[in-house]
Amino acid sequence: MKPSEASCSTIRRGKLIIVCAPSGTGKSTIISHLMQQGLNLHFSISATSRLPRGTEQHGVEYYFLTESAFRQHIEAGDFLEYCEVYPGRYYGTLRSEVDRRLEEGQNVVLDLDVIGGENIKLIYGDQALSLFIQPPSIAELRRRLEARGTDEPSVINDRIARAEFELSCAPRFDTIVVNDDLATAKVEALRKVADFLRDSRPVRTAVFGGSFNPIHYGHIMLGREVLRQGLADEVWFMVSPQNPLKADAKLLPEDVRLGMVNKALEGEPHLLACDFEFRLPRPSYTWTTLESLRREYPEREFILLIGGDNADNFGRWAHTDDILSTTRLIVYPRSGSTPSPTLETHAGKGVTMLDAPLQEVSSTEIRRRIKSGKDVRSLVPASIIPDVEKYYQ
Ligand code: ADP
Ligand code: 5GP
Repeated sequence: MKPSEASCSTIRRGKLIIVCAPSGTGKSTIISHLMQQGLNLHFSISATSRLPRGTEQHGVEYYFLTESAFRQHIEAGDFLEYCEVYPGRYYGTLRSEVDRRLEEGQNVVLDLDVIGGENIKLIYGDQALSLFIQPPSIAELRRRLEARGTDEPSVINDRIARAEFELSCAPRFDTIVVNDDLATAKVEALRKVADFLRDSRPVRTAVFGGSFNPIHYGHIMLGREVLRQGLADEVWFMVSPQNPLKADAKLLPEDVRLGMVNKALEGEPHLLACDFEFRLPRPSYTWTTLESLRREYPEREFILLIGGDNADNFGRWAHTDDILSTTRLIVYPRSGSTPSPTLETHAGKGVTMLDAPLQEVSSTEIRRRIKSGKDVRSLVPASIIPDVEKYYQ
């Protein structure tokens, strides 16, 4: 049901995600992953008296201040908290970075040392989630800092010296994620943060368009993997009445294909069959579908999930520039094939390449097997076997 006008205009305060970890654990890497997931997250840029390192820029990673400018901000009461994290190196959270955003309903992510993290948690209580990222060991921490190559040996020694104290603070955090394998840590952190923000962010709805002639385990596994990795909250299996690039394909009637999708997704509460395109002009252009979806469900974010041959021929779709500038994409190319270069050049910039070994199945193969009387039980759910056998004979 769509929310009423009144509930849409209710002012919601945003929430805070406090991320702490010994330096070198992978905190920046994990924060940047979280920031790309449509969680209405905005990074609070801290002030610091340390010098920029590597490619860091004023106003991007930090506001780089002299020690005396930093002190002036302290005296003016501009900081929510500040701390001398390393001798002579001050870091502080500016009120201006946090409160206005929260009032506007945005969520704020803060990268803080453990003392700053605990102070912000004390101020905001349940409005904040404090997340500690833990390295597998101090030795691994040193290895990562050395491999990152951005700090002098003396700075690395300072960071390692502080790490033991920081690790002892971990039990006081709301939740801990161990960053041993990075992919696993990203999934865990994203799930925890997405759960905490559930009521102050859009419902991230992945639209998985296809003929589904018929739906099979390859499709279902892909949907499950997107949910498992926390990349979306729901996956809508959008049954296309007619694909513009497959105008002459012999398709079963749309209602029959939709019926099979419905049956195949029984017991999967976040994978849903969708007939939205049945009501739109034909053939179904994804851009038109996206625009109509956004009008009908303004409280949702729609993400395009593209797999198989669609990932290869994306460059031939209508309005690819409009799609890429308005919509995040999750792409799962067929193994051995090359996704459209348009998608590859946007990887990491709104396009997530799904990293998962999934079962290779194709609808064509299923139809062929049925015609030659072969078994398809390992390829489609049991609930649709009678339909598949009846319709594709
Ligand atoms: P922090 O922000 O906590 O100081 P970074 O995100 O800069 O840490 O990560 C430190 C270095 O370790 C980076 O070069 C990063 O690519 C690498 N890294 C992060 N997580 C892992 C991991 N699980 N395994 C190996 N290297 C990692
Ligand atoms: P780095 O020099 O590696 O960027 O940061 C050093 C440490 O300072 C990290 O643990 C980082 O989280 C912390 N830090 C960054 N900004 C702030 C801040 O505004 N307040 C506090 N207390 N710590 C911060």
